[in-house]
Amino acid sequence: MLDTKPRPEKVDEKLALIGGQWVRAVEGETLPVIDPSTGKSYATVQRCKAEDVNLAIRGARAATFAWQRVQPLERGRILRKVATLLRDNIVELTEIEALDTGKPRAQAAFDIEVAIRYFDYYAGLGGKIDGYTIPFDSNHQAFTIREPHGVTAHVLPWNYPAQMFARDVAPALVMGNAVVVKPAEEACQSAIRMAELCLDAGVHPGALSIVTGLGEEAGAALTSHPGIDHISFTGSPEVGTIIQATAARNNVGCTMELGGKSPQIVFADADLERAVPAIVASIVNSAGQTCSAGSRLLVEASAYDRIVTKVADAFSGVRAGVWHKNLQCGPLINDIQQKRVQRFIDAARSDNIPLIASGRIDEEADPAGYFVTPSLFGPVPESNSLAHEEVFGPVLSVQPFEDESDAIRIANSTEYGLVAYIWTRDGGRQLRLAKNVQCGQVFVNGPGAFGNVELPFGGVKKSGYGREKGLAAIEEYSVLKTILIHHG
Ligand code: NAP
Ligand code: MG
Repeated sequence: MLDTKPRPEKVDEKLALIGGQWVRAVEGETLPVIDPSTGKSYATVQRCKAEDVNLAIRGARAATFAWQRVQPLERGRILRKVATLLRDNIVELTEIEALDTGKPRAQAAFDIEVAIRYFDYYAGLGGKIDGYTIPFDSNHQAFTIREPHGVTAHVLPWNYPAQMFARDVAPALVMGNAVVVKPAEEACQSAIRMAELCLDAGVHPGALSIVTGLGEEAGAALTSHPGIDHISFTGSPEVGTIIQATAARNNVGCTMELGGKSPQIVFADADLERAVPAIVASIVNSAGQTCSAGSRLLVEASAYDRIVTKVADAFSGVRAGVWHKNLQCGPLINDIQQKRVQRFIDAARSDNIPLIASGRIDEEADPAGYFVTPSLFGPVPESNSLAHEEVFGPVLSVQPFEDESDAIRIANSTEYGLVAYIWTRDGGRQLRLAKNVQCGQVFVNGPGAFGNVELPFGGVKKSGYGREKGLAAIEEYSVLKTILIHHG
């Protein structure tokens, strides 16, 4: 294995990782890195374009042979070393992630823990992904093997940068793919640092590339490149559709994770001591910029006032502020998202939807930061955009339901289908709801997956398709080959 581990020379100008080397973009342009708590730039990243992506894919192609020749068990060992190095650098990575995304320190720390879990989990699969034999006839032997795609492309969002990097990269690498990552330019610092540690741990140079840049430039060049064999995308349905259209022209398979409008379905018999903190955290963590956020609170009408009063009390206590104050909520990622979320809040007010409760922006928060006031609205009419559009901010809409079938009908009434949260002590109802709500993951009487990297995750309907996490991700990042040998 090569032992070239060149480092970025400047702390404030981050380089791209292309062909195993840390380099500047060919055209020499950079993009500012903005602290969302202050709106100020504190570093720059490379503005990679088509030529940089070309070089990254060429490097990845060249590396596939060597990386695939590393014994699978050894690839697992290397990923385990990555996990160890990440753990050794957990304080630094936490601060990088918090500063880059604006997340409160505790949330950023948790995200880094989860990123480490991904590497630990997939490290354990090195050497364990086997095929099977198929009874055929007495003249043949039939069997399958699972092979890597070759070069996998990963376009990542800014809401959970470290988690997303690990969620994609760890399973793709353990399978023997060479990986090209286009992180979101708004938050790519943790991916850059984690990639350095991956190389330190022994990931083959070239088998991991990081092309920072704009979606329409680096992202589009990567996903339309004929040299890639699979695309994994997490982000908006609009961009997902563009990428799928391009992928179709090249016959490249996709894994699409496109957000949601997930319901928290609360029945009168729910354990509110458990439910209420989880409901509030789900929509204010990461400032509501969570694809699996429970952004619709569906409440059984017979207990509406009792349940909503408790949620409102907890919601009123939410404070949004700078990451190192470690409050419940941070800023949104950029001014575009801030304005977008504020538009939803303003529209709800002008549509005369009652504001049940709101949190507060910390008095010490920088007015130039991208904060919005966490807001709880309801009852929200089914026809209102707040009841069916993804806000991607700390805005929770409440809707009453009459009975079980009404709850299922409302839960299924949006175009999305990512996650559902069900709160009831009735076992039969838990199962009926779990089976009838259209989505990819159901959580009963609990806060959701969080760090559970073992649980397959993905959507139905407009939320996308394919499964990340768990063993299921291995199927995304590999192909099954069937072999039939005639032996007479
Ligand atoms: P986005 O544009 O879909 O960004 C996701 C990723 O795709 C980023 O890396 C982005 O790069 C890249 N990208 C953008 N245009 C591309 C193109 N034409 N070809 C290839 N890649 C491209 O999301 P956004 O604009 O940042 O956020 C808008 C909305 O998307 C949010 O309000 C939210 O509703 C949704 N969203 C969902 C998730 C999720 O977890 N499901 C995550 C993020 C956003 P750049 O960042 O450089 O543009
Ligand atoms: Mg974008």
